[in-house]
Amino acid sequence: LAQLFRPLDLLGMVYRTIRQGIIDMEAMFRLIDTPQEIVDAPGAPALVTEGGTVRFEHVDFAYDPERKILHDMDFTVPAGRTLAVVGSSGAGKSTLARLLFRFYDVTGGRITIDGQDIRAVTQESVRRAIGIVPQDTVLFNDTIGYNIAYGRDGATQADVEAAAKGAAIHDFILSLPDGYKTRVGERGLKLSGGEKQRVAIARTLLKDPTVLILDEATSALDSRTEGEIQETLQRVAQRRTTIIIAHRLSTIVGADQILVMEGGRIIERGTHGQLLGRAGTYADMWARQQAEEEEAQEAAE
Ligand code: ADP
Ligand code: MG
Repeated sequence: LAQLFRPLDLLGMVYRTIRQGIIDMEAMFRLIDTPQEIVDAPGAPALVTEGGTVRFEHVDFAYDPERKILHDMDFTVPAGRTLAVVGSSGAGKSTLARLLFRFYDVTGGRITIDGQDIRAVTQESVRRAIGIVPQDTVLFNDTIGYNIAYGRDGATQADVEAAAKGAAIHDFILSLPDGYKTRVGERGLKLSGGEKQRVAIARTLLKDPTVLILDEATSALDSRTEGEIQETLQRVAQRRTTIIIAHRLSTIVGADQILVMEGGRIIERGTHGQLLGRAGTYADMWARQQAEEEEAQEAAE
């Protein structure tokens, strides 16, 4: 029997590896160009952004027809506002981000940005309008300057440095042996998790997207580094339509709206205060995380 399960294990490993790779969606798209499934409608115009109102209208989605992942997801993120999405692992949070980036097409309903169905405009223009800071940033085996410049074609050294300053990593880069020309990645200098996230933020600042998606962008970091990066992210998110997929609830208390997801459905929605008042799933999650944080603090003292 063990023999029988071997190939399945291997398959699982390959699947997980691919999914890890997919986490840096933007990198994926640059590397493999466009995935085959998604094609522009003939003569599709470019998306025209105007503040960046994002709407999911009764969206259903299934990766494979046998298993529906998202059920009737319906919400609006008004231009410049912040939506937070929380829920246990596997709830479908990252899938929302992938659909908005048009990695896949919805199977029911529609997604619009500033009133335009994202299937009716060019993918390239949709992806240009959206910046993603993923959980784990993939760095290229190249210079740190290149890794930031990659956020925008034709970026000058001055642009790169301005973005690095915005992401609070400029001084760190100057302290490296070759400054912006220092090689990083697997075959270069290893950066810490927090430093890598700052590179991702600098990339995103350079891209200057209308819509920003943070997919558990700080969940892999220790809580002190997380706090420092959160401050930077809050600055980046200002006046930009932002979707924050969050692990630690303390990072989203200020969101204009919070969606609580479970099994591909929205089970609660509201502001932090409203959700606490409902004494439901969110309030439970909040109480549990507060208790955990207190314990961690006591352990540290
Ligand atoms: P979350 O981000 O909330 O943890 P995801 O959106 O990543 O959840 O996943 C939601 C569900 O979709 C999970 O059951 C997951 O196993 C499944 N899923 C994710 N990616 C794929 C894929 N590429 N193919 C098939 N199923 C997938
Ligand atoms: Mg996820």
